[in-house]
Amino acid sequence: MKRGSNGIEREVDKLGRVVLPMDFRKKLGIERSSKVLITMNEDTVLIKASERLCAMCKKQVELNSDLGLCPSCIEKVKSYDV
Ligand SMILES: [Zn+2]
Repeated sequence: MKRGSNGIEREVDKLGRVVLPMDFRKKLGIERSSKVLITMNEDTVLIKASERLCAMCKKQVELNSDLGLCPSCIEKVKSYDV
């Protein structure tokens, strides 16, 4: 693995697959079976996490959800008296 100024260089395998660096996956909450959105912009391929796992129960949630929690866990947290 080479780390250049613009990221990490990876080799594409014979089936056209590239492994996403673990740092990136962790940061974006991309885990096994997570869905990503792949788009192309001129010579650049963008891979965007389209969902992530709830930080509490690990169910898949929309990426834009509050606090990275699923709706039922958000309700649980709200019901705690702080
Ligand atoms: Zn949850």
